[in-house]
Amino acid sequence: MTVVTMKTEKSARLVEIFSSIQGEGMLIGKRQVFVRTYGCNLRCTYCDSPETLKETPIPSACRVEDPPGSWQFHPVLNPITTEVLTNIVQGYLSEYHHSLSITGGEPLLQEVFLREWLPEVHALGLQTFLETNGMLPDHLFRLLPHLDHISMDFKAPGAIGRDPDEVFQTHQKFLRIASNKQVYTKLVITPTTSIREIESVCEVISNIDISIPLILQPVTPYGVELASVSPSRILEVYSLACRRLKEVRVIPQTHKMMHLL
Ligand code: SF4
Repeated sequence: MTVVTMKTEKSARLVEIFSSIQGEGMLIGKRQVFVRTYGCNLRCTYCDSPETLKETPIPSACRVEDPPGSWQFHPVLNPITTEVLTNIVQGYLSEYHHSLSITGGEPLLQEVFLREWLPEVHALGLQTFLETNGMLPDHLFRLLPHLDHISMDFKAPGAIGRDPDEVFQTHQKFLRIASNKQVYTKLVITPTTSIREIESVCEVISNIDISIPLILQPVTPYGVELASVSPSRILEVYSLACRRLKEVRVIPQTHKMMHLL
């Protein structure tokens, strides 16, 4: 008899933990605890979390905001165990929170740890929400039972320097798995986003289910407060996507407008 054993990992490398309002996507306006993981498998030109990238050394400590909304932090040494992380999250829960957002970086790089820890999050009464770049479908498959909501980014091949066919095939495999949960997709619109990229995104979604929402997010470059895509361009992209899909919305990053983390 073959015995299959799953790897376990009881600590994670994290960048920051805080409580805030979700500023993007279909859960916009919901209060969440955010856990930002270290490390990403991609290098997007518009990345707004450069501190999570592998060129940056693993932070010796994760910063934890306390109290919420203060922009004041205390350090907690990395790697952080499930017990310590659960205690930190629990510390925010005297106020109502809708869910726990696992963001990055690319959180699926720490999928083994998350499989171990997310049952504790559910035991705290929080739903789980994964923000991901949609390029690690096998990792998602293993983590799926522990997820309630998934936000999958579409990556423009030009912005990550990859072959378009490879990128969109991987996204399609990923989205098919994610469609077993509450999922929406997101495409960051930059001044260079091409019509062909929009069409490929619509193709991937409509191959699975045209009701899966697509959020068009005009890029807000790191350190800049206003989107740098023209209004006419935003309307053009919206109209194009609506020809193929049922649920398309334009939503910028609203947390930056409110100076929330
Ligand atoms: S996937 Fe996200 S974290 Fe990774 S490089 Fe792109 S924007 Fe940055």
